[in-house]
Amino acid sequence: MPRKSTSQPCWRGKGDPYPFVPGIPLEVPRRRSLKQLYSEMACCTRCELATGRTQVVHGIGSASASVMFVGEAPGEKEDLAGEPFVGNAGRLLDRLLEDTGISRKAVFITNIVACRPPRNRTPRVKEVRAHAPWIEEQLRLVKPKLVVTLGRIALTYFVPKAKVSELRGVPQRITHGDRALVVLPTFHPSAVLRDYRVLYPRVAEDFRKIAQLLG
Ligand code: URA
Repeated sequence: MPRKSTSQPCWRGKGDPYPFVPGIPLEVPRRRSLKQLYSEMACCTRCELATGRTQVVHGIGSASASVMFVGEAPGEKEDLAGEPFVGNAGRLLDRLLEDTGISRKAVFITNIVACRPPRNRTPRVKEVRAHAPWIEEQLRLVKPKLVVTLGRIALTYFVPKAKVSELRGVPQRITHGDRALVVLPTFHPSAVLRDYRVLYPRVAEDFRKIAQLLG
């Protein structure tokens, strides 16, 4: 006899027949692996972004990466693919990694908010708060030595009120919860695409610091 599944059905995104239940899960349970965490995240209805998503976009990459890249939120391509940084910004991130000799597979890439905001607007404070336990769990499980923040939303999550233009390329040694962390702020790849000639050399310079910081 096939074993009866114990897992509950859950609401996963647009068009899902399972009812949308706002605010679930109230407490994010501690999981032993990223895989378990991802299956929990897939059912998240902690904020209204869940109503517009195709799917939750969790992090991707090495579960023991020394460096974690943190972006803002998935865009249209990421929402459809279920993977962070696969659109134009992702291609630029790939190029920066390649130019610095860092393999995408060796790093971990994620976003502050795991569901696509409508029309790619900036995530709201309450959405960042609602998603915080997921990013915290990804940090706890991966334990990166270095977090590279891509843009303002990721930087201010770790260093409130900080400005990317002032801190870019300057490692910030911070205490985040009970964890000592080195945060390297840089521009968001989408910002670089908007002003490529000026910003690409700066962001490339910041990326070269990654190898130095990791020793
Ligand atoms: N921008 C982000 O911040 N994250 C993505 O995954 C894609 C674009």
